[in-house]
Amino acid sequence: MSAAVCFTHFLCAQSADVLKVRNYFENNQHSILNEFVSFLSIPNVTNDSANIRRNADFIMNAMNTRGIQNVQLLYPTTTKAVPSVYGEALIPGAAQTIIFYAHYDGQPVIPSQWAKGLAPFTPVLTKESLEKGGSIINFPPSSTPYDLQNRIYARGASDDKAGVMAILNAYDAIVKSGMKPTVNIKFFFEGEEEAGSDHLFEILQTNTALLQSDLWIICDGPVHQSGLKQVVFGVRGDTHVEVTVYGSKRPLHSGHYGNWAPSPAMMLAKLLASMKDDNGRVTIKGFYDDVIPLTAKEKKALELVPPVDEQMQKELGFAKREMKDFNLAGAINLPSLNINGMQSGGVGKNASNVITTSATAKIDLRLVAGNDWKKQQQKVITHIQAQGYFITYKEPTDEERAKYPKIAKIELSGGYNAQKTSMNLPIAQKVIAAVQSTTKEQVVLMPTLGGSLPLFVFEKYLNAKTITVPIANHDNNQHAENENIRLLNFRNGIETFAALMMMK
Ligand SMILES: [Zn+2]
Repeated sequence: MSAAVCFTHFLCAQSADVLKVRNYFENNQHSILNEFVSFLSIPNVTNDSANIRRNADFIMNAMNTRGIQNVQLLYPTTTKAVPSVYGEALIPGAAQTIIFYAHYDGQPVIPSQWAKGLAPFTPVLTKESLEKGGSIINFPPSSTPYDLQNRIYARGASDDKAGVMAILNAYDAIVKSGMKPTVNIKFFFEGEEEAGSDHLFEILQTNTALLQSDLWIICDGPVHQSGLKQVVFGVRGDTHVEVTVYGSKRPLHSGHYGNWAPSPAMMLAKLLASMKDDNGRVTIKGFYDDVIPLTAKEKKALELVPPVDEQMQKELGFAKREMKDFNLAGAINLPSLNINGMQSGGVGKNASNVITTSATAKIDLRLVAGNDWKKQQQKVITHIQAQGYFITYKEPTDEERAKYPKIAKIELSGGYNAQKTSMNLPIAQKVIAAVQSTTKEQVVLMPTLGGSLPLFVFEKYLNAKTITVPIANHDNNQHAENENIRLLNFRNGIETFAALMMMK
C-alpha cells in the first residue's frame, strides 16, 4: 500500500471536513509537534509516580489551553499513585456521547538496548525507520514543513502518547477550523495501562455518572500491517499456565544414568508437542468448543482484509509454512496456545553434562469471545493428566515421587475474558462511516485484535460498549526498544479522531 503523502485530492479525496482538519495540521504542524516532543520528554513508566504526575499535569494543561471543560484527575479509591485525566466538551443539542480513551504511561525501558543516538525520553527525528537504514536528522526550522515519512523515536511515541495528542489535536482542529463536534466528547487518559490497569475499575466504579456514554473509542495499537486504517471491534482475553515436570531429586551424570533415568526436558518437550499439530492447530480436547462462531458480517469483513502473510513472513525473517487451517487474520480470531518460555538446565557457556531435575514451560493462552479463562486453563490441565501425569499444585512429596512416574506441577495465573462489540450496532456503523470518510482506501474491519486489553472492565462496571481505533504504524516497536511513530500516522490519526467527533 502506498504510504506516499497525497497532494492530489482525486487520488485520496476525503470529506471536506477532513480536508479542513488536514489544512489545520499543515498550518500548525510545528506547534503541534513541538508540544508532542515536550510530552515525550517526560518519563512515563507507571511506577515512577513523580514523573507520572508530571505527565498528568501536562495533559491537564493541554486540555485547559484548548478550552476543554471540567478538567480533573480521577484517582482510584485505594491508591493516589496514578490518576486518570478527565475532561469534556459538551455540545448543545448533541444526542450522543463518545468517550475517547488513550493511555499516557509506557512500558519500562532498558536504555542500553536502544539504538546508538537514541534515549527513551530524548525524542529524536529520523528519516525513515532506523531498521530500514534511516538516520537521525535535525528537527526542521519553523519555516520548513515536516516530511511526514519521518519518524519520532521515544518511549510512548506510538503507544500511546500519540493517541493522547491525536485526540486533543483533533478537537482543537475542529474548533479552530470553525467546525463543531456532532457528539458530546469526554476525554479519558489512563496512566496505568502498561502495568495491567489494576486500578482502572476503581476509577470507573466511583465515577459511573461522570463516565456515562454511548461508546468508548479506544485509541491504542497499530493500524493494519498493509498500512490501511482499521476499526477493531474486540480484543482477546489472556491467561497463563506454568507447568513443571520432574525427574530425579538431584542432577545426574548423563553418562552414568542417561537413557535410564527420566529426563524432564525430554518429557516436557513431548508433553508440549502433544498440544499442537504441524498446522498450528491446538490438539487439546475441546480447545475450540466454546468459541462463538463469527457472524456473517464478521466473516465478510475478514474476507476483505488484505492478506499480509507473505509480507510479514519476509519482514520477520521466516520461511512460508504449511498452514492449512488459517492465515494470520484467521488465527487471531481463534483461541491460541503458545510457549512464552522454557527452562531446564543450561546451554552454551552454561551447559553441563547432566540430566536435569525438572523442566518448566510457561504457556500463554489467548482467548476469543465465548471462552472462559478458567475453563481454558482447565482444558490444558486435563490434557496433561490425559498424557499420564499426576497433577499437583505444590512441590511433589517423596511419597508422590515414589508412586507416580510422571508428575506435573501446575501454577495458574490470573486472567480475563475476551470482549467484543457487535458490528451491527447503529453506532458501530457510524464509526465505520466516519473512519471511511477520512480515506479513499478501504478501511479494514477486524472482529478482534490479536492482542489483549482488559476492555471487559468497561462493560462490567459501566455497561459500556467499546470500539478500538488504532493509529500507529505497525512497525512501531511498541513495548520494545526503539519505539517510534511515523508522522503521517500521527497526522492521519488526528484526521480520524476529528471525523469521529463529527460523526454523522
Ligand atoms: Zn498501548
